[in-house]
Amino acid sequence: MTQTLPPTDPSGTHPQGVVPHSGARPTTTTLAAQARGLTRSYGRGDAQVHALRGVDLDLPAGRFTAVMGPSGSGKSTLMHCLAGLDQPTSGSVRVAGHDLAAMDDDTLTRFRRDHVGFVFQAFNLLPMLTARQNIWLPFELANRRPTREDRERLDLVVQVLGLADRLGHLPSELSGGQQQRVAIARALVTQPEIVFADEPTGNLDSEASAEVLGFLRRSVRELGQTVVMVTHELDAAAHADDVLVIHDGRISARLTEPDQDTLVAALRGGDR
Ligand code: ADP
Repeated sequence: MTQTLPPTDPSGTHPQGVVPHSGARPTTTTLAAQARGLTRSYGRGDAQVHALRGVDLDLPAGRFTAVMGPSGSGKSTLMHCLAGLDQPTSGSVRVAGHDLAAMDDDTLTRFRRDHVGFVFQAFNLLPMLTARQNIWLPFELANRRPTREDRERLDLVVQVLGLADRLGHLPSELSGGQQQRVAIARALVTQPEIVFADEPTGNLDSEASAEVLGFLRRSVRELGQTVVMVTHELDAAAHADDVLVIHDGRISARLTEPDQDTLVAALRGGDR
C-alpha cells in the first residue's frame, strides 16, 4: 500500500547527516507517511496556540525515526496529526499514499485499524487477557479470523520480540519491559504501514528501556517495519536511524544516526 513518490529536493545534494530546517528527505524513496504545510492551532484570539507552524515531512518506509524537542514544542500534536487522531488546521497528511483528509470518520477509523499501529507509554494491555490474547486483539476487534499467514506473522513477531515463553502469562505476571514488548507485538501483528510509539520507554527503568528499544529496532531491521517514536530521552533517540528535532511547531533539524553531541547541539539550537 506504500507509494513511491518523486524526490522532494531536486538537488539531491544533501549528504547523510544534518539537513537543516527541513524534515523532507532528499532522495526518491518509499514513503510511509508525508506531511505538507501542516499547521495545527488551538483556541482563538489572544488564547490561540500554534502547536504546528508549517511542517513538511517525509517519513521513509523501513526506518526508525525519533521525534525529539522540548516540552510543548508540538511532538504529540505532530504524531496525532500524522496518525489521523487529530485534524490539522491546514496542510495535508498522507499515510501509505492515502490522503487522510479525504476520509470520513468511519473510513479513517478503519484505515487506522488496518494500516497504523500504536504503542503507548502506559502499555494499554487488557489485564484479564494473556499475552497471546492481547497480541491477537486487533483481529478480534476487526472481527477477522487469523489466516495461516497471520499465524506465521505472529510466530515471527513473537520470536523477534523474544516473547515465545511468555505468551500464556497475564500482564500482571510480566515485567514492565515484557508488557511493553507484548504491546509492540500487538502493534506489529497486523503488519501496519507505520507504527507510532508515544514515549514507549517512559514507564521503564533504563535496563528495560534499552531492551525495548533494541526490540523496536529489530522490528525495523528484521520485519521491515516503519516506526516513529516520540521521546525526550537521548538514549532512546540513539537507537533510531533518523532524529527529527522540533522547536516551536517547526522541524529545526533532521539528523541521521547522530552522536549525542550533535543531537544535544540540535536540541539546543532552537533556543538561539
Ligand atoms: P509536546 O508533545 O512537544 O510536549 P504538544 O504537541 O503536546 O507538545 O503541544 C504543543 C502546544 O500545543 C503546547 O503549547 C500545548 O499546550 C498546546 N496544545 C496541545 N494540545 C492542545 C489542546 N488540545 N488544546 C489547547 N492547546 C493544546
